[in-house]
Amino acid sequence: MERSAVASGFHQNDILYPSRAATSTTRLHSFSSLRNFPSSSLRIRQSPSPVSSNLIISCEISRNRCDAVSSSSTHVTELAEIDWDKIDFGLKPTDYMYAMKCSRDGEFSQGQLQPFGNIEINPSAAVLNYGQALFEGLKAYRKQDGNILLFRPEENAIRMRNGAERMCMPSPTVQQFVEAVTTTVLANQRWIPPPGKGSLYIRPLLMGTGAVLGLAPAPEYTFLIFVSPVGNYFKEGVAPINLIVENEFHRATPGGTGGVKTIGNYAAVLKAQSIAKAKGYSDVLYLDCVHKRYLEEVSSCNIFIVKDNVISTPEIKGTILPGITRKSIIEVARSQGFKVEERNVTVDELVEADEVFCTGTAVVLSPVGSITYKSQRFSYGEDGFGTVSKQLYTSLTSLQMGLSEDNMNWTVQLS
Ligand SMILES: *Cc1c(COP(=O)(O)O)cnc(C)c1O
Repeated sequence: MERSAVASGFHQNDILYPSRAATSTTRLHSFSSLRNFPSSSLRIRQSPSPVSSNLIISCEISRNRCDAVSSSSTHVTELAEIDWDKIDFGLKPTDYMYAMKCSRDGEFSQGQLQPFGNIEINPSAAVLNYGQALFEGLKAYRKQDGNILLFRPEENAIRMRNGAERMCMPSPTVQQFVEAVTTTVLANQRWIPPPGKGSLYIRPLLMGTGAVLGLAPAPEYTFLIFVSPVGNYFKEGVAPINLIVENEFHRATPGGTGGVKTIGNYAAVLKAQSIAKAKGYSDVLYLDCVHKRYLEEVSSCNIFIVKDNVISTPEIKGTILPGITRKSIIEVARSQGFKVEERNVTVDELVEADEVFCTGTAVVLSPVGSITYKSQRFSYGEDGFGTVSKQLYTSLTSLQMGLSEDNMNWTVQLS
């Protein structure tokens, strides 16, 4: 792409720098001060730091490649000034968020970056009153060579579309979703942790922002993406977590919404989770609500057991969230010759298991050190990762972070 063409199309003021004021409010309904990006390409002239003030990012979205062109020969953008050794899984405000609205015909268009900040919303919005919304979660990693990697973003897009169908919402196309994620990550690239220090967590939201009073789908929807640099999800880091099997509360029911990432599923598990945490457990392991006998999953991650080198995980049948990490681990394990079974896994099998681990974008792969069921505690591994869990963890994270050859073709390189 011709740099002059990029430069002539945009001016420094096209993107407003965020105000850090606590009262900063961004009106979703007023985009007038910001220029729309053409849907298939992004050109940003940024950023506030002196080192990268001439950096021009030109991003033609294609399957696996976005190019960053810089006026100097280096791709290095100055990193945000935070203590990268101390980041946990909490929200840190970044520079930009992305918003795209849909009209009554259900078509999303004219999405754009805007300064990260509060949004204005009608008190009668369907999301606030009836929980009509979905979220997604994915991560961007910074490679040693400065390139940025996304992991299977189309999978998140497809899952959001499936969830939207369940929740009676229109949703962005896969291409719109991936372009929006790419745009948001590139605009916030100074917030992507250095290699080995963590990742940039990307949180897409799809919500009914139109006003309703009687129960009905909203007349208007907003797709929004914000990002935050993150470290480990569990305070244990990669040390094993301790779970307790939940006997009273359930997160999902047959015919319900457990299989989609709708926001209401999560407020509903806070009670069980906080009771477990107060007792010193990291999280709760749910059983099926009909027989109270089959393993389902943890509040926000999927579960696997390993017995005699055979890997088993509960099959997807509506009450379990179809994790992209789950699916990827299954494929990686099979490619390494492991037998992987997706089936009903009974709570009794916890007694015999050699290893247990959880998977999810946030937790990646977390070894389970113990599971308590009806006052009985089953322990796994000596003190840390089991052999199979460790092998799978290393394979997946190397791939996600660009440390190994991506022979699965799962990563998308942004710059
Ligand atoms: C998001 C989520 C997962 C993990 O899904 P990934 O795509 O691997 O991040 C598992 N269980 C629940 C309940 C979730 O919300």
